[in-house]
Amino acid sequence: MKHARWVEGSLLGALLLAGLFCPQGPAVFYGSLALAFVGVATPILVGAALVTLVAERRTRLQGPRRAPRLVWRSAKDTMLAVLVAACFLAWPFARLWVDAPTGLVWTVDEAGGLYAVIFGNLAALVVLDAWLYWKHRLLHTRLLFPFHRAHHAYRDPTAFASFAVGTVESVLTFWPIVLLAFPWATHYAPVYFGLVGGFVLLNLYLHCGATSRLVEATLPRLGVNTSAFHNRHHANANVNFGEAMIVWDLLMGSHEAAVKARRT
Ligand SMILES: [Zn+2]
Repeated sequence: MKHARWVEGSLLGALLLAGLFCPQGPAVFYGSLALAFVGVATPILVGAALVTLVAERRTRLQGPRRAPRLVWRSAKDTMLAVLVAACFLAWPFARLWVDAPTGLVWTVDEAGGLYAVIFGNLAALVVLDAWLYWKHRLLHTRLLFPFHRAHHAYRDPTAFASFAVGTVESVLTFWPIVLLAFPWATHYAPVYFGLVGGFVLLNLYLHCGATSRLVEATLPRLGVNTSAFHNRHHANANVNFGEAMIVWDLLMGSHEAAVKARRT
């Protein structure tokens, strides 16, 4: 546990200090970092508060609460994860600040045409979902679990715990943001922001501890994760590792139903 804290602290320090070497200068980098932090933290905190207000009035998936909600602790952990994400986002922001080109483009032509946008994004989604699943499986190994344990302190989570993960896990999750800083890594902005916004909303829902009948009836048909599915991972950390989709749990037999069937 102690060594995990040391690694996490050093990693966060390195991410913050890297800004000293930003080609646009430290002032531009740390200004961009502050903007990125506020710009990401605000919608996540407001979204988490709204989702929690609704979800706490509904029937809880794990029944009446037996433990405290840990709202402040999870909000604080989430802000630390947002700081890590902002450290990556500050690099493309710093380039935008000085009008240097980035990978973010606003027209389909600049993104390489309609087929490139459709198939490029579909391929990226498949690769990213596989990465999220295997990253999560790796974090449940004996070696890496110390970097994931804090997230499982929220056994019956609220939406404030949606991004309450340590620095190592945050780096493994958010590093692709830095690709936006490279002009060759073309991202079609409307689709990119739509997908990122969708992922944030999904993650708030996955951790709210309650369900919406309409959402639960729709998302599994698309292979997308749901609150009912992910909540089981918080109740029983040995099943349901998917973060965006549930496809890899079905393929690898880590779906709770498959695990139960093997035991009987
Ligand atoms: Zn986990």
